[in-house]
Amino acid sequence: MHNEFYLTDSQIIEVLNSTQVATAIHVGEQATIQTANEAMLNVWGKDHRVIGKSLEDALPELRGQPFIEMFARVWREGITISGTDTPADLEVNGKLQTFYFNFEYKAVKNNLGETICILHTATDVTGQYLTKLREQALIVELAKTNEMLQATNEELAAINEEFAATNEELMGYQQKLQLMNDDLLETKIQQQFAIEAAELATWDYSPEMGTFSGNNRLKEWFGLDTEEKIGLPKAIEQISAPDREYVISAIADALRFSSGGSYDIEYQIIHPVTKIPRIVRAKGKAQFDESNQPVRLSGTLQDVTEQKQREQYKDDFISIASHELKTPITSLKASLQLLNKLKAKIEPAIVPRLIEQASKSMEKTSMLVEDLLNASIVNAGQLHLNKSSFAIAELLQDCCDHVRAAGKHELIFQGDKSLMVYADEHRIDQVIVNLVNNAVKYAPGSKEIYLITEKAGHCAKISIVDNGPGIASDKIPHLFQRYYRSDYQGVQFSGIGLGLYISAEIVKKHGGEIGVNSEPGKGSTFWFTIPLVNKAY
Ligand code: ADP
Repeated sequence: MHNEFYLTDSQIIEVLNSTQVATAIHVGEQATIQTANEAMLNVWGKDHRVIGKSLEDALPELRGQPFIEMFARVWREGITISGTDTPADLEVNGKLQTFYFNFEYKAVKNNLGETICILHTATDVTGQYLTKLREQALIVELAKTNEMLQATNEELAAINEEFAATNEELMGYQQKLQLMNDDLLETKIQQQFAIEAAELATWDYSPEMGTFSGNNRLKEWFGLDTEEKIGLPKAIEQISAPDREYVISAIADALRFSSGGSYDIEYQIIHPVTKIPRIVRAKGKAQFDESNQPVRLSGTLQDVTEQKQREQYKDDFISIASHELKTPITSLKASLQLLNKLKAKIEPAIVPRLIEQASKSMEKTSMLVEDLLNASIVNAGQLHLNKSSFAIAELLQDCCDHVRAAGKHELIFQGDKSLMVYADEHRIDQVIVNLVNNAVKYAPGSKEIYLITEKAGHCAKISIVDNGPGIASDKIPHLFQRYYRSDYQGVQFSGIGLGLYISAEIVKKHGGEIGVNSEPGKGSTFWFTIPLVNKAY
């Protein structure tokens, strides 16, 4: 029966077509498309030609996706399947793309409960879904950023704490620095007093600027205006001409990093106005930067004119005294030698012993005078060398007969016997005798004394080794100075402190070096070097 309130099929389809919700009706297990509205055709990206086709034929891209099977189940089991945000790959405008849908496949049944069709509705939620995804990603990102911020915050708090601690430490340092500054000021004042009391001049040279300055005393000695800061050449001009080159090269030496930066020399300055000469001892030290370049050389000057004068008087006296002593001693020696030869024939029996004692004393006196004489020769710069080539080992073997004769010590030779040196044999003999005599004198308990020769570069090195008491390290630097003597545990030995001084001067005059390795309780090794023959020519 036809009733005007019932819609025809085409009217129903028209209604379906007009809805915005994508809608389609399928029948059968193949989900054959009975009808599909415009919205659904848009979703599929297809046109009316799909009507009447099975779902698989109409949308072949659905193969391999779950939807075709879902339709079959809905048809077979009369159920409803729905989903939200479900991805489906559809070919739209010739391009396979993924869209997201909220969909429902609903089995529509007749009175008998049989499925007559499947109502398929779908809403494309791709836009919302992707926005949601982006929002979720953003939230995750934000959470991460938040975490990072949190961590950074914690770090900052820790750094802040550290800062606070460092600040406190710094404040502590500042206080200490202040105290040190006060101390420094105090020390500076004391230093100033000390410099004044010691009547020292102070000086400061900047190699970079080439400028030279000093305290008022220095300016007074050099005849400079009190305000003046002068170039080094101007200062050098005030040094007496023969000393200038020597001072310039000592400054150059001190400014070389490899030299250790020490500067310790004596020279004469002449006041430019009064022309009064003054002998000064200059002591200083160079400072170097990280690349070992000199940044300053500074130090003190001491007026040693009077001291030098006193030394000169003493030297003059020694020179005269030794000259005067030499002649009578020589004749006394000759007489004693004669007496010695005759001693067996003289009575009473004590006479020979007296003569022997006198001879011994005479020998000592003669050695002392010999030292005095040699020292005055060295001081006056009159040490002349008479050089020849000779085997140093032979000299060592032949010298020191007196030690062998006394029989208290054994001289043991070791080392290279072939070394030929070019030197003044008599003077070198003198050095060896002196070193051996010292070993005998200062190491009386050392039965063995070793005499060792070895090659050291272009030189022969001669060492005299004893097992005696050794020498304290603070005394070693002074041993080769004139008149230096040190007693050992209160024991006094005869001598005048010239032997090592003369030996050192002889060795230096040969271009060699002299030194000692010694430790208390471990004996002493006195050594010196002299050039080998080839080097000397
Ligand atoms: P002198 O023997 O006339 O005192 P020297 O110049 O020969 O003068 O020696 C200087 C000082 O060196 C001596 O006073 C002594 O203390 C010390 N000395 C020298 N040789 C030795 C040695 N082999 N062992 C210990 N001390 C020594």
